[in-house]
Amino acid sequence: MQPVRFYSLNQFLRKRHGEKVIKLSIDGGFTCPNRDGFISSDGCIFCSESGSGDFSPAASLSITSQLTTSREQLLSKWPSSAKYIAYFQSYSNTYAPLNVLKAKYEEALSFPQVVGIAIATRPDCLSDAAIAYLEELTHRTHVWVELGLQTIHPISSDYINRGYDLDCFETTLHKLAAKNIETVIHLILGLPGETPEDMLRTATYVSQLPLQGIKCHMLHVLANAPLASLYVKDPFPLLTEDEYIFIVGEMLKLLPPHFVIHRLTGDGDAKHLLAPLWTKNKRHVLNAISHYLKINDIYQGKSLNLY
Ligand code: SF4
Repeated sequence: MQPVRFYSLNQFLRKRHGEKVIKLSIDGGFTCPNRDGFISSDGCIFCSESGSGDFSPAASLSITSQLTTSREQLLSKWPSSAKYIAYFQSYSNTYAPLNVLKAKYEEALSFPQVVGIAIATRPDCLSDAAIAYLEELTHRTHVWVELGLQTIHPISSDYINRGYDLDCFETTLHKLAAKNIETVIHLILGLPGETPEDMLRTATYVSQLPLQGIKCHMLHVLANAPLASLYVKDPFPLLTEDEYIFIVGEMLKLLPPHFVIHRLTGDGDAKHLLAPLWTKNKRHVLNAISHYLKINDIYQGKSLNLY
């Protein structure tokens, strides 16, 4: 039997719910303060027109209709008895008055076989009232919040126009942790100007935080995101697949074994992806990561000297 080299989301969900659990993406009809002019009108530089929710059904559909559609699409792959996490993915999914959040989340939770919700948002979009409500939800369902940190380096966060600083992130994270609300962060590897050491400094920083999980992927240059015009005008170097896999391996060594690895590579919307094209073949990248971890005997937390 193959040794388990990292704690995958699949393992975590099976352990928590006793069986396979599938995430169904939702566009809850929110927007984002980094796009609607409250912070900026430009958005994060890598963010697509759909608010990084390229695989969600149309926001014009109700939450129930979106879940129904996604569920039906997956019936050929997974049994009709499967359990689901409703994943509020597009834009900033806590950027609305509390009554609106409650209505949308409760609609998702009332869908048959939904056993929890995942909420992608920004740390500057989580009011104390919203956190109190999420805490209440944790007593009756599985909840996690996803924060798009991407990097800890101010030069990079300015470059990507993230629109909040590290203090804001830390303050919100600690409020969530104080209420035992699971929190997952997103990291982007390969931001222009970042060295492998810079990326691993981000990994070291997050390894010391009260997080439950991490999602990482290569920077995608999408035709429908602001980064595209910069790239087309003056193409900057992007990581090769081998460089990316090396950094993923080094990062995994730094992450504590209890962190759930939600994603080690992402597949950007293929019809808009300009570069790097190797990310299109997600299955190949995942197999190459597995092979690399095996031949180099890398496992999550290897560099932490835990024993
Ligand atoms: S915070 Fe999220 S939705 Fe808003 S611009 Fe950045 S990536 Fe897009």
